Amino acid sequence: MNCIFCNIVKGKEKAEILFENNSTISFLDIRPLNFGHSLVIPKKHYENFYDVTEEDLHSVIKATQFVTSAIKNRLIPDGINIISNNGSSAGQTIYHFHFHIIPRFKNDQFTFRPQFKDYSEGMMREFADKIRMETKFSKEN
Ligand code: 5GP
Ligand code: ZN
Repeated sequence: MNCIFCNIVKGKEKAEILFENNSTISFLDIRPLNFGHSLVIPKKHYENFYDVTEEDLHSVIKATQFVTSAIKNRLIPDGINIISNNGSSAGQTIYHFHFHIIPRFKNDQFTFRPQFKDYSEGMMREFADKIRMETKFSKEN
């Protein structure tokens, strides 16, 4: 399997590395939405959020908070988006799990706000019930 992010982990592909420990690595995104746009990945290859182990997810989210804090303190953005795209319909292009850390500025001219939908009567409960079939959550528990 030829994975560009695995190659960055192995040092075969160049990257501006921001942070690294035993299990995670963070580097600048090559095509930033804003300058300083960064990625955080587990060193081990997982296709996406669905299959990353709890242990590696913990490390990645810890590193994400650490790098976010560095970006916040050093680039002084007005806000920061932290996102993970999973599956091509969600915009995933590299199938090695990662979080994006995107510094945002008041006038940066892009938005993650598409047209919002409205639930019709009873529909919200229906959707919640479908998901609860799996989470097995009920207020009586
Ligand atoms: P996705 O679209 O899967 O959520 O995010 C993949 C990200 O990886 C994209 O924002 C893209 O710009 C970035 N990317 C793709 N190839 C490379 C690369 O070779 N080096 C770096 N640093 N970033 C890359
Ligand atoms: Zn990989």
